[in-house]
Amino acid sequence: LFRSMTSRSLTPVLGELYAERLLLGASVPAGLLLAGLAGWFLSRKSMEPVLAMAERARRIGAENLDQRLPVLNAHDELGQLATTFNDLLSRLSWAFALQRQFVADASHELRTPVSVMRTAASVTLEKSHRSEAEYRNALAIVDEQIRRMSRIVEDMFRLARADAGRLALELRPFYLDEVLAETSRAASILAAAKNIRVELPRLPEASCYGDEDLVRRMFMNMLENAVKYTPDGGRIAVNLTSLNGSYLVSVSDTGLGIPAEAQPHVFERFFRVDKARSRQEGLKDIGAGAGLGLAIARSIAEAHRGSLVLQHSDETGSTFQVTLPANRQV
Ligand code: ADP
Repeated sequence: LFRSMTSRSLTPVLGELYAERLLLGASVPAGLLLAGLAGWFLSRKSMEPVLAMAERARRIGAENLDQRLPVLNAHDELGQLATTFNDLLSRLSWAFALQRQFVADASHELRTPVSVMRTAASVTLEKSHRSEAEYRNALAIVDEQIRRMSRIVEDMFRLARADAGRLALELRPFYLDEVLAETSRAASILAAAKNIRVELPRLPEASCYGDEDLVRRMFMNMLENAVKYTPDGGRIAVNLTSLNGSYLVSVSDTGLGIPAEAQPHVFERFFRVDKARSRQEGLKDIGAGAGLGLAIARSIAEAHRGSLVLQHSDETGSTFQVTLPANRQV
């Protein structure tokens, strides 16, 4: 048996081996190719929604920020990515809308004084000879409108500075009680013309850190409003306390108050409760407001990591409250 086994010809075995080698040689690359193709196909298939999202996102710009990415399944990773991206788009489109509104309101506010000045000038120049009084009158109109315009431009500049946040702040240590005493004194000069008393109790020493100039402007805006919207013979009270590392400053008046439906809007840019009311009752020295005062005051408070809220307002008066961090938290 051994002999017969050992003497068997190798030719068929070699033939078989050769066939198997051929089979192996062809099937391995074919298998690899197939696996590669399947992998490519699968990865393309799974990347398809990502590519579609990318394509859709590429087409979203400032002019069509209202478009959103499709969310096929809100619970898988892709769905969550699309939802997060859509939330970002919503916030951006809200910010864009505010910005557009701001530019529209600002140009509207600036257009009025420009057209008043143009009319005053052209009417005065129509006749070749005019009396001195007539020229004076025209110049007085131009002067008043220029004051109004420069106040609006200055307000917009301050707003831009406060909006830029801490980058644009000139931070220094200062005493908050001194700033309050100073601004209250300035307000009491304006208030005297309307026989309004400004009450300032003995304030505790309050060392603070921030942009003193902007903080002064914030309180001045609040105090000017208190004077503007308080009838003759009224009272304005300023107070300062400290609580848990923050200073609380309140400015109260015995003024007209703000109607409940207008209260949520008083901090919006260019918002005025009643445009006619603001213009008529505004003191000459203060100038008619453009509805930027409280918006500026709030962004100054926020740039200092503080806040400004309307605490209370009804027909007996209003109280605004500012919170400012006492330490170097800005
Ligand atoms: P303005 O420049 O018109 O005063 P603000 O932004 O300072 O603009 O205020 C917005 C509006 O809120 C004002 O037009 C006014 O009607 C109302 N307001 C602000 N402060 C007071 C206040 N102390 N009492 C009553 N109304 C106020």
